[in-house]
Amino acid sequence: MPIATVNPANGETLRTFDALDERETERRLAAAHRAFHDHRTTTFAERARLMNRAADLLDEDQQEIARTMTTEMGKPVKAARAEAAKCAKAMRWYAANAERLLADEHPDEADVKDSGATRARVHYRPLGVVLAVMPWNFPLWQVMRFAAPALMAGNTGLLKHASNVPQTALYIEDLFTRAGFPAGVFQTLLIGSGAVEAVLRDPRVAAATLTGSEPAGRSVASVAGDEVKKTVLELGGSDPYVVLPSADVEKAADTAVTARVQNNGQSCIAAKRFIVHTDAYDAFTERFTAGMRALTVGDPLEESTDVGPLSSEQGRADLEELVEDALAKGATVLCGGGRPAGLDRGWFYEPTVLTGITPDMRIHREETFGPVATLYRVADLDEAVDLANDTPFGLSSNVWTRDAGEMDRCVRDLEAGGVFFNGMTASHPALPFGGVKRSGYGRELAGHGIREFCNATTVWYGPGSDA
Ligand code: NAP
Repeated sequence: MPIATVNPANGETLRTFDALDERETERRLAAAHRAFHDHRTTTFAERARLMNRAADLLDEDQQEIARTMTTEMGKPVKAARAEAAKCAKAMRWYAANAERLLADEHPDEADVKDSGATRARVHYRPLGVVLAVMPWNFPLWQVMRFAAPALMAGNTGLLKHASNVPQTALYIEDLFTRAGFPAGVFQTLLIGSGAVEAVLRDPRVAAATLTGSEPAGRSVASVAGDEVKKTVLELGGSDPYVVLPSADVEKAADTAVTARVQNNGQSCIAAKRFIVHTDAYDAFTERFTAGMRALTVGDPLEESTDVGPLSSEQGRADLEELVEDALAKGATVLCGGGRPAGLDRGWFYEPTVLTGITPDMRIHREETFGPVATLYRVADLDEAVDLANDTPFGLSSNVWTRDAGEMDRCVRDLEAGGVFFNGMTASHPALPFGGVKRSGYGRELAGHGIREFCNATTVWYGPGSDA
């Protein structure tokens, strides 16, 4: 894939970039490794000062970077501004909390006495240079939720961003540089995916995190496994959105629209499969379908736009194939189902609701990365849970109910990294984020996220150590 900014709203190539050659890649690897030597010994206060400065700069740049993101990958510009604001919030949160999250742990003396220790502690140290392979869909947020904790922990970062968001990728390096982080602490590598393996195998790279598709995750994890390097994988999702009879059905239907079409439907944690109890089905379907139909599809730089184009022509073709396969096997379109009229130059697709989904349809098991919802009617909670779990993915899940017993059952039985009741899944700096099954492993955000790229060092003191 060429490294280029191609506006998905009209297909125009705006800028192209040459990939780094081997020499420049080597120079940057060496710089990252060198920078780790000093960065790991800086104080949390010093790192926090720089991280807060970066957050302030990002706030100042919000309008401009939002337009860049929108131009590169097509998200509505109002959502792009919100993404930038969310990044600044996460940066400040880690600046304020990293020291607490990585504070030494002191096991009970009584528990460790028979190890011969007079005392012991667990001390968190950074791992080193971490390679981050990132996707285009939240081009700032996906990177920042890695970079803020990683840099605060004392690691250094190398970013291999998706090839269609090079200007956002370069902006992030520039942001950390302007904030005062020393050279080499955070760098962008403009390289294609074929060059990732060599970087990952380099002995100076300690670990990798990848957010993206399953094939990309499998590839990076297998190389890392071969090198015995730690990885965190945040992969695809096909989150269920379960609506049960005690729910506020109107609110559930209104939220469902946002949950499905956020980011033009290209979010890993978007609700994708709507599983509705038969007692609530008709009311939910009517309101949800009306809401999807009422969305404004158009130029993502317009403030009034709800849904912009898909990020690439290929992305739209993949989505169209899934819908065509479902229709050929008997699915019914309740709204949408094609390209919107009058928007021929960009890669637009109508907000779509399909019902009559059966297990032989690809859309039943594959991720729909665009504004297409599948709707299922179920007789009871057992059927809802079975259907919710009938997917290779396990990122998050949403359940609408007022019944505490049903909530407990869902927490026990839904195979996902999150269960969100009476609201839609969203990430938050203080809450861990990640999946199970084919959605990946490891966690980002909160204390779990910052500790992923740390060496939890056991420190054991024998008799005489306290002299
Ligand atoms: P993608 O094609 O997997 O690309 C993601 C990143 O991986 C890009 O930087 C890409 O580089 C790189 N890449 C692709 N193949 C690779 C390989 N074989 N070896 C090394 N690197 C490789 O995914 P995408 O289309 O950008 O993003 C959509 C997917 O990401 C969806 O499945 C979505 O659900 C998932 N996602 C998951 C989360 C989460 O938190 N769980 C969040 C957002 C998105 P190039 O661009 O150069 O190919």
